[in-house]
Amino acid sequence: MSKVILSVIGTAQDGGLPHPNCFCKNCKRAINDPKIRRTASALAIVLPEEKKWHLIDATPDLKEQMSKLQMKFQLEGKIMSSTFLTHAHMGHLPGLLFLGKEGINTNNVPVFAGAKMKNMLGNNAPWQLLTKLENIILKDLRNEEAVKLNEQLSVLPVLVPHRNEFSETFAFWINGPNKKVLYIPDIDRWEEWEMDIVNACKKADICLLDGTFHSPSDLEHIGRDFREVPHPLMTTTMDKLQDLTSQTKIYFTHLNHSNPTIVPNSEERKELLKKGFFIAEDGLEFVI
Ligand SMILES: [Zn+2]
Ligand SMILES: [Zn+2]
Ligand SMILES: [Zn+2]
Repeated sequence: MSKVILSVIGTAQDGGLPHPNCFCKNCKRAINDPKIRRTASALAIVLPEEKKWHLIDATPDLKEQMSKLQMKFQLEGKIMSSTFLTHAHMGHLPGLLFLGKEGINTNNVPVFAGAKMKNMLGNNAPWQLLTKLENIILKDLRNEEAVKLNEQLSVLPVLVPHRNEFSETFAFWINGPNKKVLYIPDIDRWEEWEMDIVNACKKADICLLDGTFHSPSDLEHIGRDFREVPHPLMTTTMDKLQDLTSQTKIYFTHLNHSNPTIVPNSEERKELLKKGFFIAEDGLEFVI
């Protein structure tokens, strides 16, 4: 059985930490201290013995995330074997352009995307050049149809409700030889999902869930109304999943720059840890 490592290569909301044009306490700290910067949420599935890796989401921080991963796992020069896309928002897609002629100039990297996303990428500038020049090859991602990466490793897409302007939005089950991981970086509300998050979480060994906002006050001090940016609050998610922390490791990712739990010694972080939840960090790894 070959070893599979899930590497969490980014943990911030789309705009990253620091966030552009923000000078809140967290952003100022991150501007001055590169160690506490966070890149946009993404995962890599690494097969170290086969010297292969797969990417989940192509963020605007892809070049940094990819180089760090390649150096860490001695994968220098190895292009991802495939890429899976959750949805078309700016934190999850634009890194794809690095595969094009102005960047790496890859050769037919399989990119798994839903029907709406495939249509968007195949028929609109600048994305369409990637398929025209055969840098990427678009592959179908269908709700609840698993994509096998090898005999013991698969990625299963599940549709989730989100502001789907240009694409559908998927969450992913990453089923390794030993562990099942549920990855939901973006979702509007747990109640709007066809599936029950409590049941889903029970089936997982590890969950990496939308932790964009801790509570409505996150947004008040940056002048945004929580209701206009729908995400489940971390406090709500913790209430729902409180009884599962002994059986499932539940991490929050996709953290907004305003989220107080990104500060290691904050009261909010201490409270979260006391309840048995975790905050994902860039570079976090699991053997799955
Ligand atoms: Zn996002
Ligand atoms: Zn900020
Ligand atoms: Zn989004």
